[in-house]
Amino acid sequence: MSLEPETTEEWIRREQYRQDKYARAEKEGCPRCKEMGTEDNPIDEQYSFGFYAGFFCKKCAIRGYRDQCGHGPEGQGNPYDLDEQVEDDY
Ligand SMILES: [Zn+2]
Repeated sequence: MSLEPETTEEWIRREQYRQDKYARAEKEGCPRCKEMGTEDNPIDEQYSFGFYAGFFCKKCAIRGYRDQCGHGPEGQGNPYDLDEQVEDDY
């Protein structure tokens, strides 16, 4: 399977989808907790350990993810930490 370059149509569709998400969030609030976005609690695309986690508010990001989607004092989690194997019994 080769990676086809994105066509303009696809880009427009994706951009449209993005804008719809933001427009809906402005009217209906966070898709997860239904809180309205504020300056302190913006609703946005969230990334955890460098991966796209979803579209929801900062509070949900902090509540739901180990690296708090980068909103915590330690910032975005290091993907290498995810693979760490903690083994005490040897
Ligand atoms: Zn939320």
